[in-house]
Amino acid sequence: MEIFDVAIVGGGPAGSSCAAFCARGGLRTLVLERERFPREKVCGDCLNPSCWPVLQRLSLAQRVRDLPHYKLDSVEFIAIGGRNVIVDLPTGDDCELSVKRSLFDALLLKHARELGAHVREETTVTALAHDENWKIETAGGENFSARILIGADGRNSTVARLCNLLPPPARERVALQAHIALPQNFGGRVVLQFLPEGYSGQAPVNETELNLCLVGTPPTISRLRKWAEGHFEITANQSWRTITPLTRSPVPCAHENVLFIGDAARVVEPFTGEGIYYAMQSGELAAIAISKIMRGEDQQATLREFAGACAEMYRGRLWINRLARMAVLWPRAGSLFVRAAQIQPAIMSLLTRKIVSPEL
Ligand SMILES: Cc1cc2nc3c(=O)[nH]c(=O)nc-3n(C[C@H](O)[C@H](O)[C@H](O)COP(=O)(O)OP(=O)(O)OC[C@H]3O[C@@H](n4cnc5c(N)ncnc54)[C@H](O)[C@@H]3O)c2cc1C
Repeated sequence: MEIFDVAIVGGGPAGSSCAAFCARGGLRTLVLERERFPREKVCGDCLNPSCWPVLQRLSLAQRVRDLPHYKLDSVEFIAIGGRNVIVDLPTGDDCELSVKRSLFDALLLKHARELGAHVREETTVTALAHDENWKIETAGGENFSARILIGADGRNSTVARLCNLLPPPARERVALQAHIALPQNFGGRVVLQFLPEGYSGQAPVNETELNLCLVGTPPTISRLRKWAEGHFEITANQSWRTITPLTRSPVPCAHENVLFIGDAARVVEPFTGEGIYYAMQSGELAAIAISKIMRGEDQQATLREFAGACAEMYRGRLWINRLARMAVLWPRAGSLFVRAAQIQPAIMSLLTRKIVSPEL
């Protein structure tokens, strides 16, 4: 059986980016992905401008801009009751844009393949064993072997669960997402709307479709859906994608021969729309670490360096994500914040700039 240098479980932005960087560095790289791409994913579909440098390093920036997308020029915060504040987003090539995950993720995975990664779709990892190398078993009864394993399999990571690292599930919120007809004159806004039962995020993804996300709790989510059906005149038979949990404790990212990246390592509050950036950036950091280990550099030092680089990636950004989480867990408090920002708009502009231009 061929022994891969690295096996990556999950072909989302984290796994595909990691695979592309590993394959480009000459590593024998395997990606095992449960779904057949293109597939949609519960997400707001917004690319934070921080993604551009990673996409440049992947030589993918122009190909992403060539996908059907929508340039987002402002974010509108709407309080319960309808008061609102609008904040401009950066303009130019490195602006925030929205692109359907079916298109974005398929491009990233295709790129990994083009660079030489072996990609197996419709291949669900179900069991792991480790002696000298990792033995990976799939639902279809296939076996693979690799020296290093990467958990890039999202918030409910099977790799973390099989390694007894997945935090116990908490009673948590749930998200619904759908692509619906774009309302007339919606413009290039991202709407972040507080509602008594939770919140809704809305962004156009092309000339005809709106990404609509609803976040609530199991008891409130059906009321949110009813609100959306009325507000956007969508029919009760609209199909919705769903995901949970929206929050969980992080999984430490660096272990002996197994690394976690993207949502598998840390789930951030979706309100600020940064998860894809963290996924791709941590994928690149993992690829750097794996290359060093393969070259025979000190493994423990490399793992410490990887963990430090991941912590650095979040430093200075997570406080604002926590603030967003508080606002959405208590939407009435979040609404008061929007009303305060009507009097003092600089507050919201500053917070938004911290998210979309984090170097400030
Ligand atoms: C409501 C909501 C809105 C969001 N909006 C935004 C936004 O606008 N912008 C943004 O940047 N982020 C947003 N996020 C966060 C973003 O979606 C995630 O952070 C991002 O998808 C993480 O990428 P990933 O590659 O780590 O995981 P994923 O994208 O979840 O990919 C994991 C992959 O692993 C595969 N997989 C899972 N288990 C197995 C297995 N056992 N075997 C093989 N394969 C497996 C899955 O099929 C999947 O393709 C949002 C999240 C939510 C919930």
